[in-house]
Amino acid sequence: TTTPHDGGAVLITGASSGIGEATARHLASLGYPVVLGARRTDKLAAVVDGIRTAGGRADCAELDVTDLASVQAFAETALALHSRIDVLVNNAGVMPLSQLNALRIDEWNQMIDVNLRGTLHGLAVVLPLMEAQGHGHIVNVASVSGHRVDPTAAVYSATKFAVRALSEGLRQESTVVRVTVISPGLTVSELADRGGDEASQAAAQAATRQLGLPASAVAEAIGYAVAQPRSVDVNEIVIRPTLQG
Ligand code: NDP
Repeated sequence: TTTPHDGGAVLITGASSGIGEATARHLASLGYPVVLGARRTDKLAAVVDGIRTAGGRADCAELDVTDLASVQAFAETALALHSRIDVLVNNAGVMPLSQLNALRIDEWNQMIDVNLRGTLHGLAVVLPLMEAQGHGHIVNVASVSGHRVDPTAAVYSATKFAVRALSEGLRQESTVVRVTVISPGLTVSELADRGGDEASQAAAQAATRQLGLPASAVAEAIGYAVAQPRSVDVNEIVIRPTLQG
């Protein structure tokens, strides 16, 4: 039998909860060796334990995607464990919602730092490795908010539009690296539980409770893109609850 993978690692940022955690579990179940990164290392360790108990290969390391040196160290940890980095899933993200006139500038900067700068940090660290290898795959988690703008989500949308833009630029420039954008709609996770103004976050939590996809549905979309042959680049998957407008 052939395994879907021949030794290169799959790195997943923001793997301590939600979509990143589900993606780690799913890709490990498909046979990929996964390396999980996030700031909450206790949560990462619990996910790794679960994957190993289920027979998968997983490791984790502390990661703050806003810090280039931390992203570099994360990749070095993965390279010390595995021969190559075949896939990077740039998933870490934050969504503190509020209207622009609330001027929650620290939260704007946090979204730019994590969602946009963090994605670029991941790209900067793995692109040279992947070009040297002659292959690689970067999966960037954007959002339906990378296609449309809604009140209280202007800055969040701006970061996700930007993630789609830089993904398309990389796709055009690179003949060796596959680039996939995953754009989920409402998905059950911890995203709406952290930051933002109370009313906006409560509305997002209620909508998610009512409609949200299980994170495993998004993980399976990522698994589909990753499992394609190297000559096939799934450019974008938009996936949302059937009931979402
Ligand atoms: P969660 O809040 O459950 O997960 C976000 C993850 O990002 C956590 O693991 C968190 O870990 C990590 N993270 C946050 N800041 C940093 C940082 N500075 N460095 C490293 N990791 C960080 O939410 P989701 O699973 O929903 O979010 C995953 C991605 O999916 C995000 O990019 C989000 O924008 C996107 N998305 C989500 C949708 C939804 O409805 N849920 C819809 C569309 C897109 P820790 O705090 O431990 O560092």
